[in-house]
Formats: sequence, C-alpha cells, structure tokens
Amino acid sequence: MQRTTTIAETWDLLDAARAEGKSIGLVPTMGFLHDGHASLIRASAAENDITLTTIFVNPLQFAANEDLSDYPRDIERDLVLCEASGADIVLTPSVEEMYPLPIVTTVTVDRLSEGMEGAQRPTHFAGVATVVSKLFHIGGRCRAYFGEKDYQQFAIVRRMVIDLSFPVEVVGCPIVREDNGLAMSSRNTYLSPEEFEAAGVLNRSLRSAVELAEGGERDAAVVRQHVLDMIATEPLVSAPDYVAVVDAASLEPLERLAGEVRIILAARVGKPRLLDNIGVSLP
Ligand code: AMP
Repeated sequence: MQRTTTIAETWDLLDAARAEGKSIGLVPTMGFLHDGHASLIRASAAENDITLTTIFVNPLQFAANEDLSDYPRDIERDLVLCEASGADIVLTPSVEEMYPLPIVTTVTVDRLSEGMEGAQRPTHFAGVATVVSKLFHIGGRCRAYFGEKDYQQFAIVRRMVIDLSFPVEVVGCPIVREDNGLAMSSRNTYLSPEEFEAAGVLNRSLRSAVELAEGGERDAAVVRQHVLDMIATEPLVSAPDYVAVVDAASLEPLERLAGEVRIILAARVGKPRLLDNIGVSLP
C-alpha cells in the first residue's frame, strides 16, 4: 500500500495504473475508520484492480459551531485498517493541499439538499458536494463507494454525478451495525456505555416501522409517529431532530408509502448527533 499526500502524486499513480488497463475504485472518508468504512474498502477491492482510499476531514462541510476541531482522528490506526481491508493507495492531503486558496468555486445540489440534514445544517451539503467533486477529479474514471448510512449524502452524490457527467459509477453499500443495531459511526466514540445501549432504539424503531409498512400501513404520518413513539420510550435519546419518510431517489417527503421508500432520522444521544435510515420496497 502506498500513502500519498499530494493530488499530483496520486494522479501519477492512477495514470500509470490506467495505462496498464487497471480499473480504479475510490473510497472517500474522513478517517477514524471502523468496520463500516472497511466494508466499503473491501467492496472496492473486490470489484476493482486498484483501490484509492482518501482520508480528509473536510472543513467546508462543518459550520462554525460544529465539531471540526474535535472530530476524532487516528491516522496510524486508519492506515493499518486501510491496508488490512485491501486499499492500494491512501491519500491523506492537508487542508492547504485541498484548498490552496480561499475557495470561491463550489458545487450545490438543489432540492435533494434542502430537507433533513440540509435543513439542520444549511451549508453542509454544498461542502460535501464540493469536496466530493474534487475527489472525483482526483480519482478520474472510477467506481466510487458510499455508505447508505449517510443516505441523503449518497442520494445527492448519485444525482450530482448524473447532472454533471462525472465519469464515476456510484456504488451504495449497506449500513454496518453494532450488535445492538446501532449504525457504526466515528462519532459513536463519544457515547457512554449507557448511551451506546440506549442508541439501539434508533434502529429498532426503524425496523419496527418497516414491519408496520409491510403489514399494510401506507399512511406516512402513522409510520413516522410510530418511530417517534418508540424513540420516546428511551430517556437517554433526545427527541429526534427529524424523522422523514421520503422517496428513495428524489428524497421528496411522502404522504402515502409506495415504491422505493426510505425512512431517515437524526437524533442526539448525549453529545453526538446520530443518523440512521432504512429502506422498504412496497407495491
Ligand atoms: P465518513 O468518514 O463519516 O465521512 O464516512 C465515509 C464513508 O463511509 C461514507 O460513504 C459513509 O456513508 C460510510 N460509512 C460510515 N459509516 C458507515 C456504516 N456504519 N456502514 C456503512 N458505511 C458507512
């Protein structure tokens, strides 16, 4: 495995690989890697000749009041996990390498960025779309692996690739969970043992909502309330910032459940805000 810190040396390695006819997989991350990230690297390594993992805590996607400076970091441990999972190149650029000048060119994805996380964090998805655009220009023609854990981000990136003709095939990967159902997240490190256990209610509530839908319930308000009621039984979990029942592609809120549906939520448990979601296909 080779570690790079500059865009130019990464281009050189990828150009050489492509000249030999090799396919490229790209796995963008912010580091402090866990088995969720490892699953993306393994998926890429299984489907491509060369896997490029990037580790970059992108300042552009954090608002001034958010946790940029305390975002957890452990680059040495991350490099071990990347190698064990099958990465060939790990790019760890500095902020100056990624943003040599104050940025004045940004990418925004309208509509899909407006609700849910976008409503809570108005500048977040422009920061994500901009850095992912840069990483796609670094990776060039490739398959790029994103976790469904950040479902709105995944849907936005998938749409951006279509709208802007990036030569990238976006691959969505299933959410990797702890034994109690909690979606793995770098921010779980901030949970006390009690909060960690309590946070299992988020996924239980989503699975129960899917059972309700599969049992015939089609009223999104009823399904949504069911999730809220279950979460309210757990005192260590705050009232969710949102529970949304949306169309899986457009992210438009639904009144009646039909087709490919996604139920998405965010709630604070102690210090961190945790995200989770689940899909259901209905006739
Ligand atoms: P992050 O480092 O949080 O920016 O995440 C990098 C990538 O890993 C994103 O595509 C995430 O959706 C994905 N990811 C994070 N946690 C998980 C998880 N528990 N299961 C699957 N993918 C994940």
